Amino acid sequence: MHIFLIFIFGLCFGSFLNCFIYRLHEKKTILGRSFCPSCHKQIAWYDNIPLVSFILLKGKCRHCKRKISWQYPAVELATAVLFVLIYINAQFSITNAQSISNIQYPISNIILFARNLIFICALIIIFIYDLRWQLILDKITLPAMAVALGLNLCLGMGWLNLLIAAGVGGGFFLAQYLISRGRWIGGGDISLGILMGIILGWPQILTALFLAYVSGAIIGAGLLAARKKQWSSQIPFGTFLSAATIVTLLWGNKILEWYLNLIF
Ligand SMILES: [Zn+2]
Repeated sequence: MHIFLIFIFGLCFGSFLNCFIYRLHEKKTILGRSFCPSCHKQIAWYDNIPLVSFILLKGKCRHCKRKISWQYPAVELATAVLFVLIYINAQFSITNAQSISNIQYPISNIILFARNLIFICALIIIFIYDLRWQLILDKITLPAMAVALGLNLCLGMGWLNLLIAAGVGGGFFLAQYLISRGRWIGGGDISLGILMGIILGWPQILTALFLAYVSGAIIGAGLLAARKKQWSSQIPFGTFLSAATIVTLLWGNKILEWYLNLIF
């Protein structure tokens, strides 16, 4: 029952994130009614139900019949699924906190759950924005850094741990930025690296960077094989970084344990 309610809450929140991302790009206020981006007609409440309306309208606007981007239902569904996973994960963490090496601080599972919801929302925004417009906005990463720092310090993670992780995340991209003189990566990647460090702490920042590079390489090679992308064209790396951060947030400890077992 809890899981069902959280799923519905996630769908609604995903709908809000869609709207937020769109209006962020169009530089519009987040207040006011939703409207169709093609014909600018207001969307009635019954056509604005997350996921359900998209299916009922068969992915088309009621008025102009223009296609609605698959991004909308996809983000709604992904947000809902992630909210449920975070919920399950928070319950898991409280019972297993002693056995997992990384979580040494006392956790209230409600605070952990709320913190992860906030992190996931920021990461989804970064993921979609970079995927669609190849940009990582400081407008998102900088406030997210401040919020993440505050929350993690409240949860008892150490200053030094977060400082090291932020330094590793930011420094990793700063080095590449300097070596390539800004050709490989943009300044936004540096901010995202710092944010990842503050969100995940040490040593999980390494897990996330590792996952991002492995998945980036696999998908990059796949696209290259399918001739969908030229070698020179930019793959939005912020998308991989935010996805890797989400995975690490959820299963980082398991991945690290598995990896260490593999080596030793
Ligand atoms: Zn329309």
